[in-house]
Amino acid sequence: MNRARTHDPAPLLIFALDGQKEVDEFAGDANRGKHTGLFLPGTDESFILLDASGNPWHAVYHEYAHELLNANTSTAVQTWFDEGFAEYFSTLEATSKGTRLGMVSVAELEFLRRNGKLMRLSDLVAVRQDSHAYNQNGTTVAMFYAESWLLVHYLFDHQLISHAESFFTRMASGTSLDEATQADFGMSPARLESDLLEYAKGERFRYFSLPATDIPAETTVNELTWKTAQALAADVRWHAKLQHSDADVELHAADLRALLQDEPSNPVVLRQLGMVLVLLGKKEEALDFLTRAVKAEPAEVLNHYALALAFLSDGDKPSGRQFAGLLDRELAACVQLDPDFADVYRLQALALSRSGLFDQATAVIRKASVLAPRSEIYELALADLEIKKHHWAAAVALLQELKSSHNPDVAKQGEYFLSQEVQEAAISKE
Ligand SMILES: [Zn+2]
Repeated sequence: MNRARTHDPAPLLIFALDGQKEVDEFAGDANRGKHTGLFLPGTDESFILLDASGNPWHAVYHEYAHELLNANTSTAVQTWFDEGFAEYFSTLEATSKGTRLGMVSVAELEFLRRNGKLMRLSDLVAVRQDSHAYNQNGTTVAMFYAESWLLVHYLFDHQLISHAESFFTRMASGTSLDEATQADFGMSPARLESDLLEYAKGERFRYFSLPATDIPAETTVNELTWKTAQALAADVRWHAKLQHSDADVELHAADLRALLQDEPSNPVVLRQLGMVLVLLGKKEEALDFLTRAVKAEPAEVLNHYALALAFLSDGDKPSGRQFAGLLDRELAACVQLDPDFADVYRLQALALSRSGLFDQATAVIRKASVLAPRSEIYELALADLEIKKHHWAAAVALLQELKSSHNPDVAKQGEYFLSQEVQEAAISKE
């Protein structure tokens, strides 16, 4: 990979849960289906849910690998690689003697050998997060995971892994599978398929052996109150759902108000209720709760972030101006507490752009893009700034790319911006 950092683009919360059933309960309907673990990336928070009732390590490493990919690779990376790399990483063994990486996933290898044949490469690379093959249960999905693991293992063993990124970029820009496979892996898809089948039959699988490292033993243990645990659970359920109806928002607010009654100064409840009130347009009340959350827990970056978000919520109205100084203070606190928190830079760019400082805003939004390379919303924000600066060519180039995003919301917005942008450009030329 061009880049390999262990920063989190958004604060990461990991939940150790009691059994698969509980993981499914937390994951919500959209993510339902026999999970030992689940990674939910987000712009304000990301979550990992784990079944910790048995041996959790496979799920721990698998889901954490997803977070590493999320922080380091672009949207061009295909789903098979995400899952294959996560499976590759999941067999990691760390002991006092050393770390072994790339150990064979025995169950998957046995499955592949029993099955005797593989998915076609063209089918494998076409699988997306929302594909049927990826989301159903049974043989197809087992095959997808097992073959993805095998191909990643093969690429590592044959020193082809460093070509993967270029392969994805090439395919994302429209190159055919045949051409891309030839250019980056030096063979045809048919040859890669037959090599892969032979590889599965073999007995020699390499792994990396790394010296033991001192794992820092510094951990802080805080007991959570029952209300805090409930608020955190509500937070996961909220994030696991992609769309929220007005009724959802009202219900969430009512649940949080009930929790707050029992613990009026609980900062987690105050923060979440404050954020929902922003959505409901109750800014005064939101500011009150969020200011209290910051006072109660000043070292928690999310409190400052939520307060900044509230200040910005109606920034174009005259009332927004009076908060400018306070907003700057909260954003500065965020950057100081967590300089890798990407969305903070979006808020900063928004504030700068509202003051007409478009060049500074552009520089800041680029930081967000670098920190969270998979979040296309920062590219959208960048396109919006290019439009404001009347840099039509730059805006069109960005929007053309976003228009073909696999995220339907991003694609729709890209297309909408593009039509607006073209009209404005036409008017300005007249
Ligand atoms: Zn996975």
